[in-house]
Amino acid sequence: MPLSEEFLDKLKDANEISSVMSTYVSLKRAGRDNVCLCPFHSEKTASCHVYSDTQSFYCFGCGAGGDVINFIRLIEHLDYLESVKFLAQRAGIPMPDDSYDRSGEVKQRLLEINREAARFYRDILLSGAGREGRDYLRNRGLTENTIRKYGLGYAPDDWGKLKAHLLSKGFREQELVDAALLVRSQKGNTYDKFRHRVMFPIIDRRGNIIAFGGRTLEPDAPAKYLNSDETAVFHKRSSLFSLNFAKNTKEKFLILCEGYMDVISLNQAGFDNAVATLGTAITPEQARLMRQYCEEVVISYDSDGAGQKATMKAINLLSEAGIEAKVLQMTGAKDPDEYIQKYGADGFRMLLQQSGGAISFELKKFTAGLDMETPEGRASYLKKAVALLAEVDNRIDRMVYISDTARICSMTPGEIEKAVEERRRYKSYSMKQQERRELINPVRKRSGGENLGRSPEDKAQRGIIAFLFHSPDMLKKIEERLTDEDFPDENYRNMYNAVAARIKNGISLDISSIGDEFSAEQVGRIMGIISEHNLLPYQKERLNEYITVLEKRRDKYGGKKPEEMSESDLLERMEKLRREKSGRK
Ligand SMILES: [Zn+2]
Repeated sequence: MPLSEEFLDKLKDANEISSVMSTYVSLKRAGRDNVCLCPFHSEKTASCHVYSDTQSFYCFGCGAGGDVINFIRLIEHLDYLESVKFLAQRAGIPMPDDSYDRSGEVKQRLLEINREAARFYRDILLSGAGREGRDYLRNRGLTENTIRKYGLGYAPDDWGKLKAHLLSKGFREQELVDAALLVRSQKGNTYDKFRHRVMFPIIDRRGNIIAFGGRTLEPDAPAKYLNSDETAVFHKRSSLFSLNFAKNTKEKFLILCEGYMDVISLNQAGFDNAVATLGTAITPEQARLMRQYCEEVVISYDSDGAGQKATMKAINLLSEAGIEAKVLQMTGAKDPDEYIQKYGADGFRMLLQQSGGAISFELKKFTAGLDMETPEGRASYLKKAVALLAEVDNRIDRMVYISDTARICSMTPGEIEKAVEERRRYKSYSMKQQERRELINPVRKRSGGENLGRSPEDKAQRGIIAFLFHSPDMLKKIEERLTDEDFPDENYRNMYNAVAARIKNGISLDISSIGDEFSAEQVGRIMGIISEHNLLPYQKERLNEYITVLEKRRDKYGGKKPEEMSESDLLERMEKLRREKSGRK
């Protein structure tokens, strides 16, 4: 049952797009509209536009776009109906009764299961049966308060205690498998996934328990940590541990750690801005998530080789997401948890203050494997260093790093500066060349490559769809000359048919109402078409041109699609083409 137009209008009136978006991104005024760094792809300059008059957004970089409902769909990983519900809840509007939604209910149910499981684990931890877990946490220096704050728990050394408990609460066995709390064996039996472990609930930024991490208490287990598998409510790539606390920090930066215990012990020491990835290396999604809350991240990974390698990867991903990455250089401890135990909160605070920028870190890394005592070693170091330093735009920063480099390879700063400036001049020359190319082909730049290499037929199909959105009354004029069969591309044909059917049935062509018919990506593509055409005037002549292109194409095939033509038609057609071709020469 589709939602009524009145309801959707009311919903959108109550959820002004820029106010909804501003809880996820920081909007900057640009004329009548707003722009922001796109939360759906990594970028350093804002190319996501928010239009207040049409209550829509569009990213010229990646093509994400739509209205407020589509924004929620993309950013919260919800489906269409869940997004509508989400916004209704936000604005305190009741949902119409007939919009029964199964997938939303399934997710709701999974969250309830997780909540009940967390309660179960916590109660055991605090009971006599949880002594082993409590001892472990106490040995790691956690206070009663911290244990409660993080809702930590204990999974007993038993194959079915959690299962029995949750079944007694009325949950079904299959639901518990779907929640990744039970594992199904090959024989079909189910048993508790987490056993003999200290349990860390993973909580999203809205306060839902979406998954668990478990630290084993078996002395010789091959892997210490086990995490929930992905479920309908848990997407590892786009979740961060402790972001529910860190998002409210007064600090201007986040601290990125490797493990749950690092984050918790930092938190206990007063650093509420620490987060961790969930047993994997950082992903672009997580970097963008952090970008929504801060402009600077201090990477605080383990000081071992693996940690340092992960640091390099994190620097790159963070800087791609527009975040300034700094690196904490720890000596005398293997991770932040151990450092705080040894040197206390003040010691760690000093480390934070000394944490160098990504550039210093990389400059030091470049020496790895080189013998800096030899001229060859120094030369190959210098080559890498100069290339990196030329990328630093701020002159003062550049000078600081140049003097670092000079020290590392025993040269004078002046010599290195000369090499760096030469490199920058070359760089700016090639950038100017690039700008010139983009000026010659401006559409390409505006739409972030969307229009790159589009054929006239492609442009015509897109143009006609844009016109229908802008002036639905033009449908008649289009239908006088074209049928849907004249759209060679199936995607555009489907869009055209869907839009035309709506116009004929008098249904609104609002982006939000087409959301139930199209996927979030398709809505984005339609928004792209509309945004790209909003830059041009909607003149009848332009529509005329588009129609003519498709007419010509049809006539080329004698009113038939190539697959419908008989063999003699085809031969004749090929002959004609050959003549045309040789005539042109
Ligand atoms: Zn984008």
